[in-house]
Amino acid sequence: MKIIKNGILVTPEGEKKADIGFDLGKILRIGELKPTEYDEVYDATGCYVFPGFIDQHTHLQMNTGTAWTADDFESGTRAAVSGGTTCIVDFATQDRGDTLKTALGTWMKNAEGVSRCNYAFHMAVTDWNEETKAEIEDMIEEGVCSFKVYMAYDNLRLEDAELLKVLKRLAQDNAICGCHCENGPLISDLQKAEIAAGHTGPAAHPISRPAEAEAEAVNRFAYLGELAGAPIYVVHLSSKLGLEEVRAARRRGQTVYAETCPQYLILDDSRYDGADREKSLRGEDFEGAKYVMSPPLRKPSDVKALRDAVLAGEIDAVATDHCSFRFDTQKVLGRDDFRKIPNGAPGIEHRPALMMTSFAEILSMPELNRLLSEGPARLMGMYPRKGALMEGSDADITVWDPEVKWTIRAEKQQQNVDYTPYEGMEMQGQAAMVFVNGNLAAQYGRPLDGIYGCYVARSRK
Ligand SMILES: [Zn+2]
Repeated sequence: MKIIKNGILVTPEGEKKADIGFDLGKILRIGELKPTEYDEVYDATGCYVFPGFIDQHTHLQMNTGTAWTADDFESGTRAAVSGGTTCIVDFATQDRGDTLKTALGTWMKNAEGVSRCNYAFHMAVTDWNEETKAEIEDMIEEGVCSFKVYMAYDNLRLEDAELLKVLKRLAQDNAICGCHCENGPLISDLQKAEIAAGHTGPAAHPISRPAEAEAEAVNRFAYLGELAGAPIYVVHLSSKLGLEEVRAARRRGQTVYAETCPQYLILDDSRYDGADREKSLRGEDFEGAKYVMSPPLRKPSDVKALRDAVLAGEIDAVATDHCSFRFDTQKVLGRDDFRKIPNGAPGIEHRPALMMTSFAEILSMPELNRLLSEGPARLMGMYPRKGALMEGSDADITVWDPEVKWTIRAEKQQQNVDYTPYEGMEMQGQAAMVFVNGNLAAQYGRPLDGIYGCYVARSRK
């Protein structure tokens, strides 16, 4: 048996001092354990022991239409475990004209044998028809209990009537439907207006995707959920207006799960200006392209509203929407037209440290656990197999050393990108030991040899 001794266990009921023993990938015993000579002992003095962190929103090895993400499952999961994340839920995405089964097969193949953390898949439905509908049952049998639909991006989005049908079908199996809530057609038109005004640079990106376009979409999706009698899951909520729509829907009795991301809690839209806003609008200053993601970074007032929502317990999970592109060879594809800048930013490696640092003192460890592990596990149909330190649960364990001070640097990261949105930020705390299925996979920000990630079949029934 492996034993982690002297740590402080973080559980939904609070913190407790206890040892934790595990073997063959499962937690066997929690309490005061007396190691024998056959046991392997890890000392966690001064550290918090969490159920492994779960990132329920990642995009690895995906072609977004403009480019392939810089991280595949090898580098992406290496970065994940280095930062303390032991399980991701990535988005398998249906190609129009193709089946869900093909998409799942592709993502399975990409992840298998190279993933250092555990992985599960949401299924993004982009082509709704009788065949797709019939395949939902197969997906659920394969352990896919969360799906995604898009209201933005012409190559991905569904019409409202189709969204309603998806929601109705998924509700039959208590599967959850996530949605990228932004009004796509409206955004396309606003983008054209910016280009016509000579605004071809990164600073035009947030102008063309206003918070109203998110709020309207959240509102519409919530009403579709009500009409379908289905819970809804708003992914990467970014704005105060969007948050107000979540609240309004909840007041009406609609079940709304809300996810936000570290970037919307820490960064704001001043990042798009680069050194000179006018130059960034015209594309002469391109630094802002590093932050081109959708939805975009918002105003400081939005950041504050979302942080308050986190503190108030209104947010169910903090995930990354990790979707990385290199600055030097990929973001530059949109040098002359911000619409062609590959959308997305890296974050899979730094989420735990960003949250621990940014919310230190204002959130307790159990509250951070709820956002980083327990909440995602519950929402994604993995609890208590994951997201809990309980006898019988999987031995995915993150030992967090709160005393380590370090600085985020692109040159030191495992993510396969040449920048990070958080360059130079001082972090307090680091994942000291990260166990995936009972195997030590990373220590103090560095991955160890060994590929221990497995596919996680899930169920919300
Ligand atoms: Zn995403």
